[in-house]
Amino acid sequence: MILLMGIAGSGKGTQGKMLADKYGLHLISMGDVLRMYVTGKQRERMLAGGLLDDAEIIAIIDKVLSSIPDKQEVLIDGFPRTIPQAQWLLDQVENGRFQLDVALHLKASQDAVKQRLLSRARIDDTEEAIEARFSEYDRSTKPLLAWLSDHNIEVINIDAEHSEEEVNNDLAQHLQNLHKS
Ligand code: ADP
Repeated sequence: MILLMGIAGSGKGTQGKMLADKYGLHLISMGDVLRMYVTGKQRERMLAGGLLDDAEIIAIIDKVLSSIPDKQEVLIDGFPRTIPQAQWLLDQVENGRFQLDVALHLKASQDAVKQRLLSRARIDDTEEAIEARFSEYDRSTKPLLAWLSDHNIEVINIDAEHSEEEVNNDLAQHLQNLHKS
């Protein structure tokens, strides 16, 4: 299992697709899964840029992961996003359910990605929702990077301010090294 992490607009979706196609990985995009299933108040919260409840997210990812054949290598974009979510995942790893290989962190500043988000015009890409996602990221997800390292999960930082192609090459390089070792 490989985790893809990064601020909104850092290119997780685009890069995740490219990597999954190139290496035959099963791609799970948490945002896409939620946009498909979540309704009502939760959907409003999501579109406003807030995070959904850990318990709910965990129940959903648990089901999605159960539907994937054991042998299939999985690439997850957008999970875990909080320490409790990561704790759940590590518990699964410790119980032998999955093997966690690495977390790939697409590193970019808010300034660098803001324009990308505003020009893609997804329904939650309004100035307000973008700001909310940035602050949720700083509050809940950023501390996770150090937390994962502290729990012996390798976190690889990739400069996501480069062009799409350069970022893809960097990621591919790291994945190749991973497969060699
Ligand atoms: P982005 O990376 O641009 O913020 P995503 O498509 O990954 O967009 O996620 C969209 C929204 O889905 C988030 O703003 C959040 O509301 C919700 N979401 C996605 N993953 C999680 C998660 N692991 N925990 C809680 N909420 C999540």
